[in-house]
Amino acid sequence: HAKSQGVNRYSYFDPVMTEQSEARFKIETQLREAIDKQQFQLFLQPKMSAKNETVVGCEGLIRWSIDNVIISPAEFIPIAEENQMIIPIGYWVIEEACRMIASWSQQNIAIKMSVNVSPIQLQDPRFLKRVSEIVEQYSGVAHYLEFEITESSLMTNLDKVMGLFIELRKLGIKIAIDDFGTGYSSLAYLRQLELDTLKIDRSFVIDIPDDYAIPASILALASQLGLKTVAEGVETHEQLLWLAENGCDVIQGYYYSAPLPRAAFEKKYLKNRRQDHTHSMET
Ligand code: C2E
Ligand code: MG
Ligand code: MG
Ligand code: MG
Repeated sequence: HAKSQGVNRYSYFDPVMTEQSEARFKIETQLREAIDKQQFQLFLQPKMSAKNETVVGCEGLIRWSIDNVIISPAEFIPIAEENQMIIPIGYWVIEEACRMIASWSQQNIAIKMSVNVSPIQLQDPRFLKRVSEIVEQYSGVAHYLEFEITESSLMTNLDKVMGLFIELRKLGIKIAIDDFGTGYSSLAYLRQLELDTLKIDRSFVIDIPDDYAIPASILALASQLGLKTVAEGVETHEQLLWLAENGCDVIQGYYYSAPLPRAAFEKKYLKNRRQDHTHSMET
């Protein structure tokens, strides 16, 4: 009898439940097992210097594969944020980035890597402690690590976030504001927070060069504030030219490459990057 199995269990399988919530329940259950089953991986998208078109870094973007199907973060990150699973997943992402940076640095490849950090992760009271434990475990990686945090997530708890960013930067970790320009927030926070980078949202890059008022303003603002700039979603040569001419530091987008599995990224972008003039052969 259904009722004897408990109210919760009964309601999960209520016949009036929509197909949508059924799918959602399935995703939630599978998300809980995904780390142990090693179903996550970070794809890597290169970040190129606008000046000389060399790779200066990369962004790690999570992918979830079940049964040879790759699920996009747009589909599961919002669910993971709602049920707090983003917290363990987020630590996995940070640790995986540290593992990659450490392995590259052992090969004398110095490349920066950024990962996305959800506002829910910042609310975890153990966040700073866990992050410092992770970066200590892979010594020397922190200076190559950057956290991308969306603008819209900053305003809810500005005081707390302000202190957190100071501590993260003491560890050597850099802070970027992701999707900048879409967050409806006060510009005052840009002076209050310790930041390194603004990432111009793709929605503003798309109209370059026809409509450049907003990207031009963001570049001017960043320059006045002494922040580095990255343009995301760059797809055309015209966009690249405009951004390079107008002082954008770093270009990211399909124009160079979509996010790639690690092996493909290393083959395409890191093969000739060994700095052999250092004493790499001795160690
Ligand atoms: P985001 O951090 O703003 O990442 C940029 C997204 O734009 C990525 O989608 C990337 O594949 C895509 N993209 C890059 N270049 C282009 C381009 O030229 N044209 C177009 N149309 N798209 C481009 P992706 O990988 O599906 O990630 C979507 C969002 O999911 C990310 O946006 C980020 O907010 C979130 N996300 C991804 N990985 C993680 C993660 O590890 N943790 C958290 N918390 N969120 C993540
Ligand atoms: Mg990002
Ligand atoms: Mg972005
Ligand atoms: Mg975006």
